[in-house]
Amino acid sequence: MLHIGCHLSSTKGFAAMGRTALELGADTFQFFTRNPRGSRAKALDTADAAALSTLLAEKGFAPIVAHAPYILNLCSDKEENRRFAAETMADDLRRLEHIPGQLYNFHPGSHVGQGTERGVELIAQGLNTILRPDQSTTVLLETMAGKGSEVGGRFEELRSILDRVELGEKMGVCLDTCHVHDGGYDIVNDLDGVLTEFDRVIGLERLKAIHLNDSKNPQGAAKDRHECLGRGHIGLEALERIVNHPALRDLPFCLETPNELPGYRAEIELMRSLTK
Ligand code: FE
Ligand code: FE
Ligand code: ZN
Repeated sequence: MLHIGCHLSSTKGFAAMGRTALELGADTFQFFTRNPRGSRAKALDTADAAALSTLLAEKGFAPIVAHAPYILNLCSDKEENRRFAAETMADDLRRLEHIPGQLYNFHPGSHVGQGTERGVELIAQGLNTILRPDQSTTVLLETMAGKGSEVGGRFEELRSILDRVELGEKMGVCLDTCHVHDGGYDIVNDLDGVLTEFDRVIGLERLKAIHLNDSKNPQGAAKDRHECLGRGHIGLEALERIVNHPALRDLPFCLETPNELPGYRAEIELMRSLTK
């Protein structure tokens, strides 16, 4: 069975997201660990976290995805910003141990002119201060569209980060279909070729989650603007091939399309109808 869900607001708490996901026909979901701009998180409600853990187990959810605030930049040129990112991520990971065994996705960062190599080095350095041998959460690097000075638009960049991380077994990758398409990978006409390339460069065993999005822009545009499924340049046929691909079909798929809950419910139902 397809494991699919969508991005949900966390304002009503952890267990409320689980119940919303069930109402939408989802068996996974994603949420921001705190305000996407990275402000302080509320005090953790451990009973609420435990209630979500129970619900996930009882209802047979696939792993869920906690998304780091996108303002964090482990490879900023300012030491203060790098430290803030590392401290925030470490705090997120401590909190996530109350919902054990899930995924924590983050945008690798923007090197802001320091160059990709320096960016890769700083990101890996940051991760080496954040990861703990006893953590149960797997930390995911998200594939990026490569806009501006973003690191992670090429599979090679993600591989270079992974190679420098000491606790590599705590790390994985989340593939965002809009980002890789905008980054120049032809998932519409050559999905097999792109996945072969992913396997050669990173290794498919590292792939832990998919962000399932259409794109408002043509392949290679380096833009990163998500579109509803079937209304963009990726298109429904390609998305159908993605959710049915033997290398991907067992992964959790998360929608980050421009929708409110009814739109998400419809897209979840649509993708379920297109899988065997
Ligand atoms: Fe993201
Ligand atoms: Fe994404
Ligand atoms: Zn995006």
